Amino acid sequence: MVGVCAALLSNSRAMFLTSTKALQAQSSADYSSVGMVEIKGMNSYECVEGMPSGRFGDMKRDGYRAEHGMPMMCDEAPCQSGALCLKRDDGCLYYDAVRRAANPQSKLVLGNYAYWMSINKYGEGLGSFNLLVLDEAHNAVDELGKFMGTELTPHEVSSVLPSESRMLDAGADQEEWREWGGYWCIFASHTLEMIKAQIREWERSGGRGMSYAVLRRARDLRRLINKLATVAGMRGEWIIDRVEDARGRPAVKFDPVWPGTYAEDTLFRGIEKVLLISATASPKLGEMLDIPPQHVAFQEYPSTFPVSRRPVIYMATSGAMNIRSRARNLHSWITLLDQIIERRLDRKGIIHTVSYERMREVFRMSRWRQRMLTHDSYTTRKVIWEFKNSRENLILVSPAVTTGYDFPYTEAEYQIITKMPFPDSRDRVVKARNDRDRDYRNHLTMQNLTQMAGRINRADDDRGETIIIDSDFVWFINKNHRLAHRWFLEAIRTDQYLKPPLPKLKGG
Ligand code: SF4
Repeated sequence: MVGVCAALLSNSRAMFLTSTKALQAQSSADYSSVGMVEIKGMNSYECVEGMPSGRFGDMKRDGYRAEHGMPMMCDEAPCQSGALCLKRDDGCLYYDAVRRAANPQSKLVLGNYAYWMSINKYGEGLGSFNLLVLDEAHNAVDELGKFMGTELTPHEVSSVLPSESRMLDAGADQEEWREWGGYWCIFASHTLEMIKAQIREWERSGGRGMSYAVLRRARDLRRLINKLATVAGMRGEWIIDRVEDARGRPAVKFDPVWPGTYAEDTLFRGIEKVLLISATASPKLGEMLDIPPQHVAFQEYPSTFPVSRRPVIYMATSGAMNIRSRARNLHSWITLLDQIIERRLDRKGIIHTVSYERMREVFRMSRWRQRMLTHDSYTTRKVIWEFKNSRENLILVSPAVTTGYDFPYTEAEYQIITKMPFPDSRDRVVKARNDRDRDYRNHLTMQNLTQMAGRINRADDDRGETIIIDSDFVWFINKNHRLAHRWFLEAIRTDQYLKPPLPKLKGG
């Protein structure tokens, strides 16, 4: 609402960015009545010509979506391989949405970070704006890093390029990778032009006989060209690492150590005013996005939620312990967890575990496991939906709801933080950023911690307790309170023994 008011009062043409589909849908529902126009990625719109009655409706597709009976979406449509489509000028769901968003009369345009950066880098953009509003701005550095980086598998290279293109080993240095990427990027571009000529020839001859495999190869080549261009264009310091892709295949990942150096060109795009909004934004965010300090005006506003309704309680009892002592005294740690739950069986709660391993440990050892819901990375959304919509007083045990999900009112009235959310120090990107900026790791931890604290308090009449049982919290907060927000610090209290919970909210 602050962003929308800023845009309307200053008569600006404004672009709003959100980081998740859920937040985008929420803003669209809230502000379409004041003229907000929404634009999403191509994979959110069905290809009209791919529908059964369309020109490409009888094309025999393959791939995951086809195998699962899913419709052809615009990102896999033949036009993305160079085929001509008259609907592109009128009648295509995606391109019509782009035209609406790019129309100078559309004063409030809503999209997401990834789409905005992509349409500006690979597409024709959405016209000029005087105001850019970044919602959940604490995610901006990550979004930028994800967009600038890339991942390559030997499989995707060898499936569209000749065998001589064999990928280098992850251990090769940045310069070797740049050369390799540059060479094969040019090669792939030539190959793509040849395939596009073939596709145009096919169209001239009436559109018969072209197989979907050729169209798919052109599309895969185009995607690979973008990745190779990223590799060839690496500048500054990058981390090149061996990883596994989503299907468990070996892959090489490329990440800029400091994504902020790309912020102006890729994210801010020279827009006159940028408004970054977040409950956990801090001056550090401006630094990480490489914004010169003289160009930043930072405002922190007090929380309107009463402290008494959102306490952050550190349990200084014998069961509270850090990861080192916990391994020796696992049983007393679980006993403390169970005692906290026992007093709150009349309501729903969340246990933040930070890792899947600890999630399984809690589930295995707690005596309240019959009430607990756990998940893996594929079932997160489904299990959260089940938890939110259940009328039973369940406990969601998860490492994945630290941000991005809200649990207002009776959806969760308490949450237990079992471990401080330190970023994984084995991660080479985290390590490199921390070597460059000694505050980086602490800043990230504080951000995650405050994000967690906000999950269950969503309005001034909401109510929920955050209970921390990791003794590392004590030194961390003492050493880093300057990185914390006032709304968080003012809610912290230490309890030496278990106290009765806050009164239960009505309903649920
Ligand atoms: S322009 Fe592309 S996505 Fe749109 S209807 Fe035509 S083929 Fe499908």
